[in-house]
Amino acid sequence: MKDLMLSEAGFLALNAGSSSLKVALFPAGGDEPLMTGQADRIGPEGALKLKDQDGEVLENAPGLIDSHTNALAVVIATIKRVFPELRMAAVGHRVVHGGLDYAEPVLVTEEVLAKLADLEPFAPLHQPHNIAGIRAAEEAFPGVPQVACFDTAFHRGQPFVNDTFAIPHRYYEKGVRRYGFHGLSYDYVTSELARIAPHLMQGRVVVAHLGNGASMCAIYRGKSVASSMGFSALDGLPMGTRCGQIDPGVMLYMLDRENLDTAQIRQILYNESGLLGLSGGLSNDMRTLEQADNAQSHRAIDYFVFRVQRELGAMAAVMGGIDALVFCGGIGENSRVVRRRVCERLGWMGIEIDHGKNAENATILSSEFSRTTVMIVNTREDLVIARAARSAAGITEGTDA
Ligand code: ADP
Repeated sequence: MKDLMLSEAGFLALNAGSSSLKVALFPAGGDEPLMTGQADRIGPEGALKLKDQDGEVLENAPGLIDSHTNALAVVIATIKRVFPELRMAAVGHRVVHGGLDYAEPVLVTEEVLAKLADLEPFAPLHQPHNIAGIRAAEEAFPGVPQVACFDTAFHRGQPFVNDTFAIPHRYYEKGVRRYGFHGLSYDYVTSELARIAPHLMQGRVVVAHLGNGASMCAIYRGKSVASSMGFSALDGLPMGTRCGQIDPGVMLYMLDRENLDTAQIRQILYNESGLLGLSGGLSNDMRTLEQADNAQSHRAIDYFVFRVQRELGAMAAVMGGIDALVFCGGIGENSRVVRRRVCERLGWMGIEIDHGKNAENATILSSEFSRTTVMIVNTREDLVIARAARSAAGITEGTDA
């Protein structure tokens, strides 16, 4: 385990979901976390596991975590026990919605928290938990700067045509807009491209963040110009259990003909659709579906690939072409099958992958004949949060020690 200097500063990155809390503890001068972990199913059966950088279990609390506050208390006790000299310098939080005001991370004040609470109707399943996570951290680390990092921020400069829906304009004025999400991931991928392939940052890049949640983003000269997710985290690509793009007439059908209420429709669209719904309940997990290799799993994977390809074509069209396609997220980084199938028949777009490199999950997947660069970037949302927290504490550079 890494030795810490006396009173070395630590930075905590927190990602509070409805029933989960992901944590990563960073040192002052490095991008590799000293400790990572996650609390799951927070409630009567909530469990929490924390590991050090070598994968050694530091804390295992099965069935004891009934609130986010409780989860944080276990995290803090573990930090104090394992890193007694560490001084918490700042805490960074993933916050799903920053609304119209926040295009970058912000230091949390009571005024900021009030604005974030006003956005709860726009992200009812996430925003209240994000705010609860900030409150719990404020209580746990009094006086320590708390920094909110927004999934919407990366997309704030998008052109009007990608920001609006074609419904009465008063809704746009009320904030019913296409905000786009997964911004922390796109932010990280953009910063990585600037480091390893700066010429691409002058061009037209499509990033496919394919995980349990999935979206795509068109990035022109380093800025988001279109995203597949819109007003909520339901739009765009099909996901593990979320539907992706849908004709609103389907919801009217559910309301009018099936007499479902909004809670039932929400349950279907968020929790019973996507890969799970397409596969007839077989699985929401791409790896399981690939292994199943049957009619149900083919249905789900075929639709997923079709939608990624369709979105890719649309994004290349709005940018007038494409210079790079970047895969990230659990599926994008690991599924050879999905990447191969997405890139099939895209020669017209200048995309040709080297199947050997694809099989190895190499960083550059494109063949020497490919006009368009195809890459994998292992995304690190935790690091984007930690960097924002460092910067709030006046430390700008993280170097890998
Ligand atoms: P989240 O959005 O919850 O952060 P992840 O980015 O971790 O999700 O992605 C989870 C998805 O990645 C799951 O569908 C999982 O099956 C898929 N995945 C992970 N490893 C592989 C693999 N080796 N092959 C295919 N799919 C994989």
